[in-house]
Amino acid sequence: MEDRKVRVRFAPSPTGPLHMGGVRTALYNYFLAKKLGGDFILRIEDTDQTRYVSGAEEYMMEALEWCGMQFDEGPRQGGPYGPYRQSERKASYRQYADQLIESGHAYYAFDTSEELTEMRERLTKAKVAAPQYNAVTRESMKNSLTLSEDEVKRRLDNGDQYVIRIKIPRKEEVRFHDVIRGWVVVHTSQMDDKVLFKSDGMPTYHLANIVDDYLMKITHVIRGEEWLPSAPLHVLLYRYLGWEDVMPAFAHLPLILKPDGNGKLSKRDGDRLGFPVFPLNWQDPTSGEQSQGYRERGYFPEAFVNMLAMLGWNPGTNQEIFTMEELIEAFSLERVGKSGSKFDPEKAKWYNQQYLRTRDDAELADIFLVKLKEEGIDADKTYVTAVCSLIKEKTQFTSEFWDFGSYFFLKPTDFDEQVIGKRWNENAARFFPVLADDLNGLADWKTDVIETTFKSTAEKLEINPGHVMQLFRVLLSGQGGGPVLFEMTELLGQEEVVARLREGVERLK
Ligand code: GLU
Repeated sequence: MEDRKVRVRFAPSPTGPLHMGGVRTALYNYFLAKKLGGDFILRIEDTDQTRYVSGAEEYMMEALEWCGMQFDEGPRQGGPYGPYRQSERKASYRQYADQLIESGHAYYAFDTSEELTEMRERLTKAKVAAPQYNAVTRESMKNSLTLSEDEVKRRLDNGDQYVIRIKIPRKEEVRFHDVIRGWVVVHTSQMDDKVLFKSDGMPTYHLANIVDDYLMKITHVIRGEEWLPSAPLHVLLYRYLGWEDVMPAFAHLPLILKPDGNGKLSKRDGDRLGFPVFPLNWQDPTSGEQSQGYRERGYFPEAFVNMLAMLGWNPGTNQEIFTMEELIEAFSLERVGKSGSKFDPEKAKWYNQQYLRTRDDAELADIFLVKLKEEGIDADKTYVTAVCSLIKEKTQFTSEFWDFGSYFFLKPTDFDEQVIGKRWNENAARFFPVLADDLNGLADWKTDVIETTFKSTAEKLEINPGHVMQLFRVLLSGQGGGPVLFEMTELLGQEEVVARLREGVERLK
């Protein structure tokens, strides 16, 4: 086991958009593979045709790519262990189900759905808490353990419908080690005879998952906690198929919890509290319902990745900001906690803000230019770059740039009424026309010169500059707050500033 090359897989089922918890699972797999010089594999687990959602697979690939994860092998990349979609591997599973039947660890079950319902109803009446097809109940059902050999053969030859079930031993302890949880012990009396192979000729998740992990030489299975109850069954399958010596290490990741209260974070929490739970926008193909993604909400993929990485794992230091390379370097499964982590939507925004601040102004300008164009504004890149440099400190998302800084491109249409109501008076009406003239007369349009002029005009008119400062901002931008005032004034340009002051005075007369 020690000298095998590390190979991990992300194995989503295309049943809908990828939840942020799924993205985190992919990330932890990716970190481990890259850290240990291993392979990161994408395997699409689409054996359950009834739950297939069109577009889900493409969505997942796009989402993982947006996050900056690259697969070494997968449906797109191909690779030596392909195909990487289980539906295309259909032919490889049956032989293992047969092998299990031959070795006495699986059996045919011919029960109809009516018979199964009847069994459950009977057990419920007898006060059995969780009625199951198991070591006890299988004795009274129609399967190759209870029917005669001839009858079984007759039914098979006849083409009767059947499934193949695992034969769980009656009284045994299944023990396995989980990297995150330590030793896990489950008694087989708690387990049921899960279906391995279905009547439609497809394996179930359990069989396909084990067979593929074996054939693809997977060394670590890193997946969500919801799969922990399936792990004992998987361990038994490795044993019964004779693959115990190459059984992968298991690591079941803790849940991402609701920001308030208990329980797993769901799409409903996002809708209720106003944050995305999916990486990208998603439109449900049946209901048409739209869900917003982190990307479309304006998150940088680096911020999203950084935030997700910290939900369940900690570096053991106070460091919070990590690039992908740093995450790979610092990551270890041993530092993943056992208990769930509460998702904090404010912290997610904070992460984005940190990344926004370090972003190159010219790069931000390219993003803003797209929005400006949508608004019908044809702006100069140098100017937009300077605007971004000023407003990025005050925003968390580039999507806020327009609401926050549209006045850099359009004259304000409304003035902050609160500021006007409180501050506009005779002194102000005296001050601004003179200020407009004084600023108009400047030969050198620079922040410090503008500031000195502002003060000297106030002094000349015996007005406290502190009383007209905020009004100055409102006349220029319409808003009561914003970036550093005199830098903003310089950037707006002399002609524009003078014009806005004069127009403002006219409007407030
Ligand atoms: N197909 C399973 C899922 O959708 C994969 C579980 C596993 O990684 O074994 O989550």
